[in-house]
Amino acid sequence: MICLENVTKIYKNTNITALDRASLSVERGEFLFVTGESGSGKSTLISLLVGDFTPTEGRVIVNGKDISNISRKKIPEYRRSLGIIFQDMKLLSDRTVFENVAFAREILYGRKKDTNRRVTSLLSFLGLTGLYQRYPEQLSGGEKEKVMLARAIVNDPLLLLADEPTGNLDPKSSAEVMDLFEKIHKRGITVVVATHDMMQVERLKHRRIELSEGRIVI
Ligand code: ADP
Repeated sequence: MICLENVTKIYKNTNITALDRASLSVERGEFLFVTGESGSGKSTLISLLVGDFTPTEGRVIVNGKDISNISRKKIPEYRRSLGIIFQDMKLLSDRTVFENVAFAREILYGRKKDTNRRVTSLLSFLGLTGLYQRYPEQLSGGEKEKVMLARAIVNDPLLLLADEPTGNLDPKSSAEVMDLFEKIHKRGITVVVATHDMMQVERLKHRRIELSEGRIVI
């Protein structure tokens, strides 16, 4: 599903080497944690997979597609095969939970009847039925994160990428959010989660790599 071949990323503006000859292979259906201290290159790795940046050197292949030099024009289409959760993402504040998730599907499929059915069954699968009519400001941090997760997978991505999904949560909410990742993974989606939340990493017992100064050390 993912293949990184000797990937180096140097940010031109700061001349920082955020990734240093990183090679990695992730099979379809795998669950991978990307760990490492702050500044070790986790976000950069996720950003390269999303197509936010191109590598300075090396190749990034996702689902058989070489995205190392993907053109800006092709990026939206590429991203449709991904579920993405970034720390700075927000829900639409003037829409309910249901509408937030439905909107993400309507962008792709238009206002089809099946959207309502799909969103209803997804929210129920994720245990979010009680939150349908709430607005984002009426949600706790953990609940918001769960809704973002629903929004990320409403279009049935092959690959779910998340950067610090439990970054601002207490241990109980973190565990609940991670349990949802687990549930989604069991449906066959490949999952990559960048996190420094070692409690969750150790609890879930999935494959883990560790970055240190841009190198994969474990
Ligand atoms: P992590 O997610 O593990 O905290 P990052 O990938 O965000 O690590 O950062 C790796 C290194 O790259 C850090 O030294 C950071 O300061 C630098 N960096 C990250 N993003 C940028 C950017 N857009 N421009 C310049 N330097 C960056």
